Amino acid sequence: MYFHVLTLFPEMIMDGLNNSILGRAMEKGCIRAEAVNIRDYTLDKHQKVDDYTYGGGAGMLMQAQPVYDCVQAVIDRIRHRNQEEISTPRIIYVTPQGRVFNQQMAKEFAGEEDLIFLCGHYEGIDERVLEEVVTDHVSIGDYVLTGGELPAMVMIDAIARLVPGVLNNDESAMTDSFGNGLLEYPQYSRPRVWRDKEVPPVLLSGNHKLIEKWRLEKSIERTKEQRPDLYEKWRMENDCCK
Ligand code: SAM
Repeated sequence: MYFHVLTLFPEMIMDGLNNSILGRAMEKGCIRAEAVNIRDYTLDKHQKVDDYTYGGGAGMLMQAQPVYDCVQAVIDRIRHRNQEEISTPRIIYVTPQGRVFNQQMAKEFAGEEDLIFLCGHYEGIDERVLEEVVTDHVSIGDYVLTGGELPAMVMIDAIARLVPGVLNNDESAMTDSFGNGLLEYPQYSRPRVWRDKEVPPVLLSGNHKLIEKWRLEKSIERTKEQRPDLYEKWRMENDCCK
């Protein structure tokens, strides 16, 4: 899977993605990522990419031309790489005005071959180019950040870990929170006793059936307490009265 991030701050993206699990996944070739500098596509002789908003108001707006040309260049490269055999890839504008990102969306996006992320900055991006190129408007939550780079990285991280081979143990994505609609159960490692707190005895029993049962109970308990909305959804979907 190939992530293409269109941004005014490419170093931020590559510095963020080149580490830890995603960095290793890129080395192994399970995923690829590029950060494309929108500024490289401006036709302005002073390299300007933003201007005042019509109608007044504080702040600058990213202009349509550099964004459009940058998107077209990336699409052309993807087409060329695939010998024209693909339909236009999904182009995600990360914006506080979009659908709020969740695990279900991460799963859906993980099925794509290429994903293009468009990061806004300042007041955002001229609406006309968004109308022309964007297929998905996605937010990471109901708050406003200074730019789309962190949201894009958040989404890429969540999507990439669902791509086969990225996690060493594929099972962990299944048992993580939201995998089965619940939050994950509590987990413990060595030592067996820490500050007088013991690991729950069932986890030392070696009885896998009992351990599974305990984990499900804890997952349900925790979800009910921390995320009643999620619990209610899970309860309806599982048609049970716990
Ligand atoms: N004027 C815009 C508004 O009120 O909707 C906010 C612009 S914000 C300061 C600049 C850029 O940061 C946005 O274009 C977007 O790309 C990104 N951004 C900010 N908050 C975000 C969020 N919660 N989710 C996704 N992207 C966000």
